Amino acid sequence: MKIVTVIGARPQFVKAAVVSRAIDRVEHHDQIQEIIVHTGQHFDANMSDVFFEELKIRPPDHHLGIGGMSHGEMTGRMLIAIEKILLQERPDWMLVYGDTNSTLAGALAAAKLHIPVAHVESGLRSFNMRMPEEVNRVMTDHVSTVLFAPTQIAISNLHREGIPGDKIINVGDVMYDSALHYQDQAGPRLKKFKAMGLVSGEYVLATVHREENTDDHQRLQEIIGGLIRISQRRLVVLPLHPRTRAALEATELMADAQRYLRLIDPVGYLDMLCLEMNARLIATDSGGVQKEAFFFGVPCLTLRDETEWVELVEIGANMLVNADAETINAAAIAAEDKVISNEQLYGDGAAGMAIVDCLVGQKCC
Ligand code: UDP
Repeated sequence: MKIVTVIGARPQFVKAAVVSRAIDRVEHHDQIQEIIVHTGQHFDANMSDVFFEELKIRPPDHHLGIGGMSHGEMTGRMLIAIEKILLQERPDWMLVYGDTNSTLAGALAAAKLHIPVAHVESGLRSFNMRMPEEVNRVMTDHVSTVLFAPTQIAISNLHREGIPGDKIINVGDVMYDSALHYQDQAGPRLKKFKAMGLVSGEYVLATVHREENTDDHQRLQEIIGGLIRISQRRLVVLPLHPRTRAALEATELMADAQRYLRLIDPVGYLDMLCLEMNARLIATDSGGVQKEAFFFGVPCLTLRDETEWVELVEIGANMLVNADAETINAAAIAAEDKVISNEQLYGDGAAGMAIVDCLVGQKCC
């Protein structure tokens, strides 16, 4: 069996590594050939290479080098390039992850060639079609053959959109598998950050990268303002996504951010898990980081108006704080001592194996 995996952005490296590892563990794995296509959507060493190294992902069979352009151009170029690869490789499955332009391009190229598409992290919805990610998710789900949903809520979303139930399978969340697998390696890394003054349980970790926040000056100003208010009480460490760095540098915000916050370059996955599990509180607009906060029992503020991971808000592990400096600061004070429930919301840590079992036809939906 031949599987073409399309990845290109940071969270996809984390998710795909789980399934690649499961392929290696499955019986008769020598009969499964995985062809990895890296679109190049993320290309910096600390947004891409470090994940291949740490998560032991095989070097890509095809690297398209398509990144750093507008949504339409990027998706269009990926579509053209992936179609060529599919015509050459003729796989049994196209495997795509999450909600990026790489996800959509991979799914669309395969669907048009009648190659079955399997979508991992299917059924997530923000119900905000202004988000490029929401467009990518909805379109991908609707051309997919098998939809691997992480939660019951994701399944309900798919049912509501009329997707037949026999195409959907609740496997749990591959990011939970990953966090469980790497947490012991990640924990002790805090000593690397001692020089910055990070003490376990005493600092706030923040990430900001969604276009709705970086490309809207008013929102970015409020978010940085909120983090600066928090920094009067607690050290705030902010690994800067390249888009956020560019947005800050283009305005007067960078000077204030540098003065009050600990700005660092994006960190590798293991360092990030370490920063998360030792944080007192996390403030983020990342989908993955919201869940990882929960995996490690750390309270989370989401710097958005809505979230796809609504179950975390329902159980009180996560609070939507929008982009308002005062709300962010007040919520941080209220949330930082919260005890987070340890419910099993995201499966049993074996989502990767369930996906591979399904693809090889052992226990499929
Ligand atoms: N991440 C990382 N280093 C960072 C920031 C995030 O390794 O500096 C990891 C994080 O732990 C999670 C994933 O990247 O596993 C989330 O990716 P991102 O926030 O870019 O995307 P989203 O989850 O919002 O799609």
